[in-house]
Amino acid sequence: MRKKIIFGNWKMNGTNTEVKAFLKLVDKKVKNTDVVAGLGLPFTALQTGVKKAKNVKIAAENVHFHQNGAYTGEVSIAMLQEIGVGYVIIGHSERREMFNETDQSVNAKAIALLANNMTPIICCGETLATKEAGNTVKFVNAQIKAAYKTISKEDAVKTIIAYEPIWAIGTGKTATAQDAQDVCKAIRQNLAKIYDKPTAEQMIIQYGGSVKPANIKELMEQQDIDGALVGGASLVAEDYIALINYNN
Ligand code: PEP
Repeated sequence: MRKKIIFGNWKMNGTNTEVKAFLKLVDKKVKNTDVVAGLGLPFTALQTGVKKAKNVKIAAENVHFHQNGAYTGEVSIAMLQEIGVGYVIIGHSERREMFNETDQSVNAKAIALLANNMTPIICCGETLATKEAGNTVKFVNAQIKAAYKTISKEDAVKTIIAYEPIWAIGTGKTATAQDAQDVCKAIRQNLAKIYDKPTAEQMIIQYGGSVKPANIKELMEQQDIDGALVGGASLVAEDYIALINYNN
């Protein structure tokens, strides 16, 4: 039985003061033992997040794949590990669109994180044009194939995939639960081809894109959706609490 893994993604939001106040409200509300609750935070708020969260897992929103060196402005895996961060969101569509993240860098980051016992949350998802051309599954499968290049099945099961159709991110347009299920199922079938069926059955596939308290239950009821990556709604304590306790 796969657990539900529900992470917020605060993007470029959240001072240390705000993160502290938020976690004071939400951390004690992690009551659902079937759900792993987490929060992606900007680098500057990670240490506060780790210190203040007992129940909420803390994720970085990016990392560099090199160990160290002349990469001005970048943050390494060792730097995140030193402050107790265990998860990193990689390949988010905003980073792919605005900051030159590529399938190759996503793959390099996933490999580096796994080598250091950290959990990559690997984002994938299509644009509206790709969806309208009927190429969603082909496109997403190619992203997944590239992201998992040379990664063993033993490591693959330690990762999390977040399927996030770009047209649904921050737009208020959620994929229907059935549409999201269809793509997540196709991703799992693709993983079964890359690895094997038992491996694919173990892997966590989240859905992301305008998830909110009103629609999370139906999404989580889908067979191949194992959690959510939530942007906007995760910024509101009341909504975050409702999301992580969607079945209580
Ligand atoms: C996201 O940024 O990962 C996301 C899914 O955002 P939103 O929930 O606001 O659509």
